[in-house]
Amino acid sequence: MSTKRIVVVGGGWGGVAAAAAACKAGAEVTLLERADMLLGTGLVGGIFRNNGRFTAAEEMTALGSGDMFDAMDQCARHKNIEFPGHKHSSLYDVYEMEPAVKSRLLDMGIDVRLTASVKSAEKSGGRLVSVRTSGGETIEGDVFIDATGTSAFPGNCIKYGNGCAMCILRCHSFSPRVSITTLAGVEEWDAVKANGNAGAMSGSCKLFKESLSKDIVDTLERTGVAVIPIPKELQTGSEKLSAKACQQYATAAFAENIVLLDTGPAKLMTPYYPLEALRQITGCERARYEDPIAGGLGNSMRYFRFANCSNTTQAAGETTNIFCAGEKLGAMVGHTEAIVTGSLAGHNAVRYAAGIPLLTLPDSLAVGDFVNHVIGEMKRPECRGTKYTFSGSVYFERMKSLGLYTTDIGEIEERVRASGLSGIMGKTVI
Ligand SMILES: Cc1cc2nc3c(=O)[nH]c(=O)nc-3n(C[C@H](O)[C@H](O)[C@H](O)COP(=O)(O)OP(=O)(O)OC[C@H]3O[C@@H](n4cnc5c(N)ncnc54)[C@H](O)[C@@H]3O)c2cc1C
Repeated sequence: MSTKRIVVVGGGWGGVAAAAAACKAGAEVTLLERADMLLGTGLVGGIFRNNGRFTAAEEMTALGSGDMFDAMDQCARHKNIEFPGHKHSSLYDVYEMEPAVKSRLLDMGIDVRLTASVKSAEKSGGRLVSVRTSGGETIEGDVFIDATGTSAFPGNCIKYGNGCAMCILRCHSFSPRVSITTLAGVEEWDAVKANGNAGAMSGSCKLFKESLSKDIVDTLERTGVAVIPIPKELQTGSEKLSAKACQQYATAAFAENIVLLDTGPAKLMTPYYPLEALRQITGCERARYEDPIAGGLGNSMRYFRFANCSNTTQAAGETTNIFCAGEKLGAMVGHTEAIVTGSLAGHNAVRYAAGIPLLTLPDSLAVGDFVNHVIGEMKRPECRGTKYTFSGSVYFERMKSLGLYTTDIGEIEERVRASGLSGIMGKTVI
């Protein structure tokens, strides 16, 4: 069979997982990223394996697509820690992670192109045939994967958030997000909450450790976590937290305490916190924001423009050779969630190019139930304001009620074996 060429647009966790999976399935892969580093919002995240994300990571490993979780484990600063509401969490080092993923992809033979922002797309006969970058390059492909996320558009931060807070996405330097699905005319939706507000604000900031007291830094580096009570008069209630993209952290513990996690810098588990108030908390008198730089005022806004897709991740509509990964696929929050959908998109893109049936993950697996359930929910406008994650909130409750949450690796391997899919995503399909 002739070589199949897969073009992945967007190098966040969804895009890098898609690229790796497509490469393992036997395709020639080009990955285009608009910024000068991979990982997108994953450049400032770090939490994985918490709550149901442990089960999802191990299921993906048993399915033959554990590469990105292995990379995260290799870059973990802390393993198996607890913080309010979250068990057996790991934290990757945000400074180590991106170079490690990039070199893995290069070692696999993937053509990784940075500062390659896709601006336009050309269609012919119901198929996308090429995309064009800001540098004027035309990249042709058999199948395209949109992994452009749902953020990186300053107009949304200004209209629906507190303005541009100058975050890691650096839209003003590397140009805003452009989605392939938009260019191809695929139906897209915004996450609109019951109160009519569109989008959601990203849920954490980074503080320079050098700007915190030695006591806080020692606790963080020893245990991974520092929980510092906020004096009553400075508590702002949970209203701000309910605006968060990460609804699993919208609880009283996060309103009554400053919760810091050690991901290299100190990850502050709140969308923003006025600097003057933060500096009244013991140990934070000299606090400064690393990301967003204006973290005292606001954060990036996400969950705009996700695409209408089937549960194989194939975009709906007339242009048949587009698949979607990560947040582009629906209101799914997290690195783990983006890796799950990215891996499926990458694998199915090659199946489609090869003309063989697409893979649908079965409901007997947590990753299958997650994808199938959330894609179904996205078809209903009233569900698009909810955020879905293995790590908490509505989906983790569903996962537990269906008996899908477990940390028993033997049980997970047996579950995947019973589905007949052990190692399937680790094999070529061409
Ligand atoms: C501040 C913050 C903290 C977070 N913390 C955590 C955490 O600790 N744990 C966790 O699990 N999740 C966390 N998340 C959520 C998680 O990062 C995301 O849900 C997930 O990583 C999304 O991945 P993605 O690939 O779908 O999108 P993104 O990460 O948004 O990646 C999309 C990529 O596409 C690129 N792109 C866009 N348009 C184009 C174009 N036209 N051409 C080329 N490239 C383009 C962008 O530059 C970007 O790199 C956090 C998010 C934020 C913002």
